[in-house]
Amino acid sequence: MAKLRLLLLLLPFSFFAQEKSHYNIHKFRQLKQELATPNSEHTASGAPGHDYKQQQVDYVMDIVLEEQTNKLTGTETITYHNNSDDTLEYLWVQLDQNKRSINSKTEVISSDKAPHLLSPKDFSKKYIHPFDGGFNITSVIDSEENSLNYKVNYTMMRIQLPRPLKSGDSFIFTIDWWYNINNFVEHGGRSGFEHFPKDGNNLYIIAQFFPRLAVYNNVEGWQNQQFWGRSEWALEFGNYDVSITVPADHILDGTGKLINRKEVFTSKELKRYKKATENYTNPVLIVSQDEVVKKEKRKTSKTKTWKLKAENVRDFAFASSRKFIFDAMAVDINGKRVMAHSLYPKEGNPLWEKHSTKSIEIALKTYSDYTFDYPYHKAISVHAKNQGMEYPMICWNRGRPNEDGSYSDRIKRKMISVIIHEVGHNFFPMIVNSDERQWTWMDEGLNSFIQYFAEQNLEKGYPSKRGPAHKIVGYMSGDQSKIAPIMSKGDDTYQFASNAYAKPATALHILRNIVMGPELFDHAFKTYSNRWKFKHPTPADFFRTMEDASAMDLDWFWRGWFYTTDFVDIGIKEVKSYTFTATENKENAVARKEIKFDANLVSNQLLSNTLYNKNNATNTIPNFAYEIEFIKPGGLIMPIIVKYIFTDNSSERIVYPAEVWRKNEFKFIKTYTSHKQLKQIVIDPQLESADVDTSNNYWPSQNSTKFERFKNN
Ligand SMILES: [Zn+2]
Repeated sequence: MAKLRLLLLLLPFSFFAQEKSHYNIHKFRQLKQELATPNSEHTASGAPGHDYKQQQVDYVMDIVLEEQTNKLTGTETITYHNNSDDTLEYLWVQLDQNKRSINSKTEVISSDKAPHLLSPKDFSKKYIHPFDGGFNITSVIDSEENSLNYKVNYTMMRIQLPRPLKSGDSFIFTIDWWYNINNFVEHGGRSGFEHFPKDGNNLYIIAQFFPRLAVYNNVEGWQNQQFWGRSEWALEFGNYDVSITVPADHILDGTGKLINRKEVFTSKELKRYKKATENYTNPVLIVSQDEVVKKEKRKTSKTKTWKLKAENVRDFAFASSRKFIFDAMAVDINGKRVMAHSLYPKEGNPLWEKHSTKSIEIALKTYSDYTFDYPYHKAISVHAKNQGMEYPMICWNRGRPNEDGSYSDRIKRKMISVIIHEVGHNFFPMIVNSDERQWTWMDEGLNSFIQYFAEQNLEKGYPSKRGPAHKIVGYMSGDQSKIAPIMSKGDDTYQFASNAYAKPATALHILRNIVMGPELFDHAFKTYSNRWKFKHPTPADFFRTMEDASAMDLDWFWRGWFYTTDFVDIGIKEVKSYTFTATENKENAVARKEIKFDANLVSNQLLSNTLYNKNNATNTIPNFAYEIEFIKPGGLIMPIIVKYIFTDNSSERIVYPAEVWRKNEFKFIKTYTSHKQLKQIVIDPQLESADVDTSNNYWPSQNSTKFERFKNN
């Protein structure tokens, strides 16, 4: 009895649950549950609100790079401005170099199979003398030189404040540290040095090299998720005053204005640099290859200190080597001069002297067009083997010719593309400062989206790797167990590059081309960029701004493309053809293959139109009607792009908005009328929608056409 009663009670509930779940899977329902509740900092419009605030962290640093020992030593005084409404008990500092410590947890969690064979060098590296590149923190003191309590938890360090830091107050403290610089060619990483055995010199690209404050805000609290080696950073804006001591024959460049150029440049270099600032057409050599070859042999033991100052940047990086050839030119950004610098060893030539600085130029101009004018005074591209990595004003880029200086077209284009991409990162995330640790797509996806325009501006038809819709089909139609939604944390995703670079970039191109149209899209995208430059946006700020500035409900698009792994597949199931036939008898309205209309009524209507003339009438009265049943086997909601091709080979393109799927997401019936007879109907003929199966895109279906041809022959 008890069982029966339970069953009876359950029945109505389960019916209710089914109905509810049907509503829950409705693809046009709003994203209210997925997005954070708007507030006075991150508003419902997607703009920063009247209460918006962010912390500021200023750094004064003295850095010494010892070439003999490959040791980097630093003293940094940090001023932490608590602009939040909250009182803080401690500060979290990022120690990214601890990823290279001897106790690296990243090594512990990475699975490895027992190797079959190891060289003595690799055996030693793995089992006897593993490289220790972690931070050695030698002192943490406050401004009165009292030691501060701190606790290191892998790549994070908690600094206990002597007294709680109130809203509006600042705290000044100093950290002394050193670490062994890794050889990035041998040990990997996005910072370190490359050794060139032929001439015995090193090339240094130095980043994530100093303890940096984590972001504190009302989105994540402290963004203190560990650095596991892949997912990048969340960083506060601040001012930097940095002195870097390196061998005297090095050329160094980094984030910020070089404030002692007269002390570190020779008089010849100063003259050439001045010439470069006046040259807007071609790069000017400041340090030539011949001069570099001489320096490589001499190797000085003296040192020089380079001083750089930067305002309102979220990070600092530098590159240094006596191997650096250096060229520069001026770029005009809407009347403002920006310097484009390239630093590369002779091993990068002749590729680099031809293409690096010019690639910076096209990136700065294109990105400025789609967002806001590049606000910094320079952008630097540094040659570094196998690298592609970005910092404010400076980036590392791959692209090395063969030893004899020859290179394939592929190597050249890869180099140009990576320079455009990394220079582009100045906009996302260096200026539009999103949280990279959490949302890889917010910088990589938006950046890759504009990268496509820059490549096409450089050369029409440039073979861009990412952007065109059809290039994402392989990924989106692949094994679902190896695909994660774009809205996943970078460390947790599969197929990282497709997930966080290619798919969001392609999604935005599709959104621009076939959903919003360039005019509405570009205005909304610019609105987002300008609202959030020098601030910290979240995904919701992007989604909301794109809708806020365009009057388009795009929740279905974000939901499908960003929150699911669904793909696009739209097809034609059936087409019924009719012809219009004039009739006096209204009773006999519709017959199969025939639509009858009242000829008197139509001609009366046409006659009442003053613009009517007889010749036009034959073109306006439809003769044919086609009732088309569109189907959508793919999960993604998308507009239907249709090309109607007539027997005289003329055609018409119609894009039916995504809303056609509102009431029934599996089929949509539309009757198309024309005065000319149709020969063919094709869905997405130019492959603009990432449709994964085009075999159902044709009427008559391609197979039957082939069969008919066979039969006729
Ligand atoms: Zn990138």
